[in-house]
Amino acid sequence: MSNNQNKVVVITGASSGIGEATAKLLARDGVKLVLGARRETHLKNLVKEIEKLGSEAVYAIVDVTKVEQVEDLAKLAMDKFGKIDVWLNNAGIMPQSLLKQKKIEDWDAMIDVNIKGTLYGIGAALPFMETQNSGHIINISSVVGHMAHAGSAVYSATKWAVRAISESLREEMAQNETNVRVTIVSPGAIKTELLESITDEEMKDNAKKFQENFGISADGVALTIKQAIDLPEDATWNEVIIRPTKQIM
Ligand code: NDP
Repeated sequence: MSNNQNKVVVITGASSGIGEATAKLLARDGVKLVLGARRETHLKNLVKEIEKLGSEAVYAIVDVTKVEQVEDLAKLAMDKFGKIDVWLNNAGIMPQSLLKQKKIEDWDAMIDVNIKGTLYGIGAALPFMETQNSGHIINISSVVGHMAHAGSAVYSATKWAVRAISESLREEMAQNETNVRVTIVSPGAIKTELLESITDEEMKDNAKKFQENFGISADGVALTIKQAIDLPEDATWNEVIIRPTKQIM
């Protein structure tokens, strides 16, 4: 067991990919998990797996675009475990397309899930963390939150926004001596279900080929998140890019 034992970690988008891998890795350390996402069967199965790994978990059906549901996830953590040590804003979608295609529903959905979902998570966790005078907010951005390509405009913009929000939050927390840590994790190509959200078939096929060629397992990102949590509490890993070694861009 590491010093993570008895920590309470809330994860949005816990039902697959990076969120699920992180939950399982932390469970091995005895971390107590509070899981949010929309697919209940996945969450139920994950709770069982976490129990087999020797830890405890609860879940709630959460759509991160609904502020009340995100607030309820924080309340669930407090009711069940009495504190929130880490809040991982991980839920995200990536329906990429060319701007000229005017996929306005996709634009709106990315803004709602990736930006507003992250803000609602911060808003839900902060009051408890400020009262505790400790906590850690980890926001998932992306390599394309650092660079934009044809087809990535809105997704890149949302992930850029996540970085801007995180840096402002970091300053605000430091100014107020809240002891709350802020970390941005920006992954490259990771083999998850993320590409299923792409509605343009050609874009999806190309993204799948890229993921097949370069993508690595979500376990690498989970380990990065665990290592950020593991640092002594007076030190923070503010930002990390975790790319497949072979990924060029
Ligand atoms: P997955 O598609 O496997 O996971 C995304 C998760 O987000 C799912 O658990 C999904 O759960 C959840 N989610 C989606 N919409 C909502 C919503 N409205 N409310 C609540 N939960 C939601 O992909 P990843 O694991 O790859 O994605 C995790 C994060 O990593 C995302 O923010 C993504 O942008 C980021 N990322 C991923 C990269 C990659 O290459 N895979 C690269 C860079 C960043 P459910 O459908 O059950 O609600």
